[in-house]
Amino acid sequence: MNIIKRRDVLKQIAERMPVEVSPGKSLYEIWAVDVFDLAKMKNVLPKHIFKYLENTLEAGVPLEKGVADEIATAMRNWAISQGAKYYSHVFHPLTGATAEKHDGFISINREGEIITEFSSKQLIQGEPDASSFPNGGIRSTFEARGYTAWDVTSPAYLMETANGKTLCIPTAFISWTGEALDKKTPLLRSNVAINRSASRVLKLLGHSETANINTSAGPEQEYFLVDSAFAAARPDLLLAGRTLFGRPSAKGQEFADHYFGAIPERVQIFMHDVEEKLYSLGIPAKTHHNEVAPGQFEIAPLYENSNTASDHQQLIMTVLKSVAKKHRFMCLLHEKPFKGVNGSGKHVNWSIRSSILGNLLDPGGTPQANMQFLLFCGAVIRGVHKYGALLRAEVASAGNDHRLGANEAPPAVMSIFLGAQLTDVFERIKTGALKDSEKQSVINIGVDTLPPLPKDPGDRNRTSPFAFTGNRFEFRAVGASQSISDSLVAINTIVADSLDWIADKLEAYISSGKKLEDACTDVLKEIVDKHGAVIFNGNGYSEEWLEEAERRGLRNLKSCAEALPVLKEKEIISLFERQKTITPVELAARYEISAELYIKTIDVEARLVLEIAKTQILPSVIAYLAEQVKYFEALDKFSLDRSNINFVSEKIKELQSEVAKLENDFGKVHGSSTDSIEEHLKFYSQTILADMNAVRAVADALEGEVAKEYWPLPSYMDMLFVR
Ligand code: ADP
Ligand code: MG
Repeated sequence: MNIIKRRDVLKQIAERMPVEVSPGKSLYEIWAVDVFDLAKMKNVLPKHIFKYLENTLEAGVPLEKGVADEIATAMRNWAISQGAKYYSHVFHPLTGATAEKHDGFISINREGEIITEFSSKQLIQGEPDASSFPNGGIRSTFEARGYTAWDVTSPAYLMETANGKTLCIPTAFISWTGEALDKKTPLLRSNVAINRSASRVLKLLGHSETANINTSAGPEQEYFLVDSAFAAARPDLLLAGRTLFGRPSAKGQEFADHYFGAIPERVQIFMHDVEEKLYSLGIPAKTHHNEVAPGQFEIAPLYENSNTASDHQQLIMTVLKSVAKKHRFMCLLHEKPFKGVNGSGKHVNWSIRSSILGNLLDPGGTPQANMQFLLFCGAVIRGVHKYGALLRAEVASAGNDHRLGANEAPPAVMSIFLGAQLTDVFERIKTGALKDSEKQSVINIGVDTLPPLPKDPGDRNRTSPFAFTGNRFEFRAVGASQSISDSLVAINTIVADSLDWIADKLEAYISSGKKLEDACTDVLKEIVDKHGAVIFNGNGYSEEWLEEAERRGLRNLKSCAEALPVLKEKEIISLFERQKTITPVELAARYEISAELYIKTIDVEARLVLEIAKTQILPSVIAYLAEQVKYFEALDKFSLDRSNINFVSEKIKELQSEVAKLENDFGKVHGSSTDSIEEHLKFYSQTILADMNAVRAVADALEGEVAKEYWPLPSYMDMLFVR
């Protein structure tokens, strides 16, 4: 990337014409055209079959073979009529990626003619083998088969490439022994847990009909766009998704001029193209805007039930990346692609709802509804306090380590923001003020002393990892590249567990003769007494909070090396076992896979640092120095200031020695095979990362001194500001 090439690239970018996108069709024309949704099924399935399917969706009745056959046939006919030649079971293995195995509809009959075949067997179950996916020891490779099973609750859809369409069937991925090898299965189980425990509480509160209770999720996805001509010249972006070198540009995000600013036209066209695609897939993309950092943007769909939201979230990431290519951008979903400007997260908005009772985290208009709301809020407070470390562990990844606990959007300490008003209500429950004031019981809690809770608590706190935002909680610690499923499973599980605890308590109080209202107040009081320490409405980024959190006994797990081993703690294993969401064997596998992913990620990064430093930066800066020395000799009589070349020569020596240190330490870890996972994690997070940063610090200093035409990588200015 010398100056001539850079000029070429800039010219190329300046001359780019907006990519042609299909002329704006109306929303009605494109909405869900590529989805085999309930509306389409209703049209083509016999009435009794459709009824049966609805029953399965609502009450979880297993599908009979005959019914599945009818659906499979209808699905195939629809897909083929839309031009599909292939079908694929799509699943989400534990790597967090999206996996697919494609098969053709084609079959040949005895006469040698083409027929299309797709039976319920193929719809319901697939055997992708897929033995190369990490499974944390669940499957030994000689018996490596896993199978995929159709998730009836998530609709099939068509994915289109330039020359063909594929029918994609959302599936769970399970081992022959029944263990979950994917991210979907535990999510489905965790919704079952929520349904069971929430129904218990609601029944005690007097609801005879609750319908199926499910969780909702609305994820906000942040991402960066870099022109692909620059991205292609950055091996670190191509292979690691983040810059491992790069001096901050003279201007960053200090003016906040990008945040919610006018969206550049090229990006606007890209966003509309993304949304058009998402609409056709039945994904309700709702908002998009510029984010804080230059080159950073956000997309958020409307919330959906958490299983669908999770499938759709994976699709959103896929679509962002593929449509970006078409528009000659590289879409970066990494948590921290650029040093010195904001990283990217994925805020997961979460609530619990039933079709009959609505959103259970919505403060209601009646006293009874408010008591119910407070109990559900209380369940969240208790859960996050008891199992905050688990939430932290579920978002632990090499990429997210650069955000959490690194002076940037949410700290690694898990606390809850409730807002002043709701905090006050819980404060009064604690001191007994609600009970003491005027008449007894529920009426007090509702009408007399509980102020009507506004939908939006007004004060928005951006620094809290877990914030109540009026009728839902927003978990902000999730990383931009992560599947939202792990977090949803953890939240659902801890809340289900707390709801069970609440139900147990209420049952005991009531059977000992307590009035329901008093029982509820007592349960709430116990929650605030024991778990109120997790509530924090102040600035989560401040040093004082970290000290205060420590006094309150809240754990501060700064890196993966500290956070991941939480998955091995006894209380966590029994929590998941009790709620039947993740078995001990599955949890052990999950821990191993996450740890392995962390180590492999840093492996790749360390190799890249060595390679870029040795084969790009060092040769360039040495050439620059040699050239300068020649000039200075020729110009000797002018006695020019030589501080620049002295500095560069010193830094070159430093760079060589830092590279040697990294190489040496990296060699150590690969020489030994006996160390435990924990020791490996520690060594990588403490030694290898520190070595990498030391190499970078010297290289970045050099970037500020060496002539641009010699610098081998596109700069931060190029990547963040040119589009
Ligand atoms: P913010 O102000 O935090 O940027 P947005 O309105 O952009 O909020 O996005 C918030 C997300 O929360 C959207 O996906 C929205 O659909 C979702 N959301 C709204 N209400 C709920 C709810 N009750 N449960 C879960 N998610 C919700
Ligand atoms: Mg938000």
